[in-house]
Amino acid sequence: MRHCCGRIFVESGNYKGEMRALYIGRFQPYHLGHHAVIKAIASEVEEVIICIGSAQRSHELENPFTAGERYLMISKSLRDEGISNFYIVPILDVNRNAVWVSHVESLIPPIDLVFTNNPLIERLFTERGYNVRTPLLFNRKEYSGNEIRKRMLNNENWEVLVPEAVTEVIKEIDGLRRMKNLRRSDS
Ligand code: ATP
Ligand code: MG
Repeated sequence: MRHCCGRIFVESGNYKGEMRALYIGRFQPYHLGHHAVIKAIASEVEEVIICIGSAQRSHELENPFTAGERYLMISKSLRDEGISNFYIVPILDVNRNAVWVSHVESLIPPIDLVFTNNPLIERLFTERGYNVRTPLLFNRKEYSGNEIRKRMLNNENWEVLVPEAVTEVIKEIDGLRRMKNLRRSDS
């Protein structure tokens, strides 16, 4: 087994330069937990395919950002680290778990490995015969989309939980004002 940053990712080093790995998230927003995992995966495999799940969702309290905005957050953050061996693919929901892996497959290049902490995604890819790995979680209490969205709405310090590029994208699109408007009710 090969160890990276104290964590085990791909087995024996002879894969490097050959493997293409998949990582899936909603990235509402992209945060330092996602960033730590993707950086480690990118250093171990030839290419990382990053799927932006629920791509059609935006302008909701749980899903404030569009696929394009999330795309910018991820690509700018990784490029700031000098990482370029990644491809980002937005994925629309199909709301039928049994066909979801086929749906993802129809949009991405062939992959050798799937990295996920989501038990349902792990189950669905394992049933289709994929090699699924579970990376360890980094500071999950704070590096969490839910915690960051909560802090944004409460004017608490959320910037420390995301890469700098994410803060810039959210400022550029006036994301905080969007979220606060979404919280208002018309009653
Ligand atoms: P939300 O609270 O909105 O669900 P999230 O932080 O769980 O956001 P997702 O986009 O749902 O982020 O998750 C994408 C993937 O990133 C999942 O496999 C999730 O387990 C993983 N992940 C989330 N937080 C961390 C973290 N702190 N460290 C490592 N992986 C994480
Ligand atoms: Mg989640």
